[in-house]
Amino acid sequence: MSQGIMIWAEQRDGKLANVVYELLGGGRKLAESLGGSLSAVLIGQGVEGLAQDLFEAGAGKVILVEDAQLKDIRDEAYVQVLSAVIAKHQPEAVLFGASVAGRSLAPRVAAKLKVGLSADCTSLEVENGQIKQIRPTYGGNVITTILSARKPVMATIRVKAFAKAGRQAGRSGELIRESVSLDAAKIRTQVVDLVAEVAGKVKLEEADIIVSGGRGLGDPAKFKLVEGLASVLGAAVGASRAAVDAGWYPYAHQVGQTGKTVSPKVYIACGISGAIQHLAGMQSSDIIIAINKNPDAPIFGVATYGIVGDLNEVVPALTEEFRKALS
Ligand code: FAD
Repeated sequence: MSQGIMIWAEQRDGKLANVVYELLGGGRKLAESLGGSLSAVLIGQGVEGLAQDLFEAGAGKVILVEDAQLKDIRDEAYVQVLSAVIAKHQPEAVLFGASVAGRSLAPRVAAKLKVGLSADCTSLEVENGQIKQIRPTYGGNVITTILSARKPVMATIRVKAFAKAGRQAGRSGELIRESVSLDAAKIRTQVVDLVAEVAGKVKLEEADIIVSGGRGLGDPAKFKLVEGLASVLGAAVGASRAAVDAGWYPYAHQVGQTGKTVSPKVYIACGISGAIQHLAGMQSSDIIIAINKNPDAPIFGVATYGIVGDLNEVVPALTEEFRKALS
């Protein structure tokens, strides 16, 4: 009998990260296939109120660890808590969102428990009672299936890879309070200040529509064209590495292998050639619209719709048409 699936319920300032609801959705399916429970580990200070939200979103159990030292997410403190909770509850698998915090914390926990970690999975499947961890490799050219030799199976899951579970108002579950004695000497990080990421109105990883600009804009001021189209569509703004390396747009907006991985419903690439490293971060988008003056640009190889033309004409024309259609 499986000991169930455990997820890390990432929260900041008393607000659960969106990916937590997705982990509950995917985790629930896994737990049902394996015949175990779904538990969420909630760590922080004064966060008990979030347990009800987790139950309603699909958690069967919430393991709550509260301490003043856990107010902010600090890897050295959280790794102690998570490894102790996992060692005690012995889950079959532990899932983290592939957020900045999840990507930093999960490998530390895995190393402490001496188990493997599959990073950036896009799907998890159960076959013959084993969890298959699936992730794109080599810039998205190869899809790898990973089986872990040791338990628990640990994985980070890309944002938007799992659908959220249907919410059930009033649903309750088992609240388990745990206390972990923290080794303060090992917590060497102090949070001095939290500065909000310089981002547009819509968060890149969570946006349904993204309009991205590349070196083809030719000039940093031309990002106004990209922003104009994004604003009409209620979209987030992305950028290629060439554009951010040139200092045209902040790094927080970079899409690709060394930037953010996105999977929106619509991705509009303006003046982006479609280098493999860029495609690695956006090719799972539902619809890709490419605007490029070179008909042989590789981006057209993945595009659902391609517009061969000068972005200086195409982008303002599209913006105008969408403005009329959506007003
Ligand atoms: P270019 O390749 O220069 O393409 C510009 C395009 O604009 C061309 O196709 C051109 O035809 C078109 N164009 C020009 N003028 C116009 C116009 N007026 N109208 C319409 N189209 C026009 N890149 C990323 O994006 N993200 C990453 O995370 C990333 N990680 C990397 C990691 C490594 C290890 C390495 C080696 C590279 C990485 N890169 C990444 C860089 C990547 O290889 C490319 O260099 C980069 O994506 C190119 O950006 P671009 O498409 O904006 O520029």
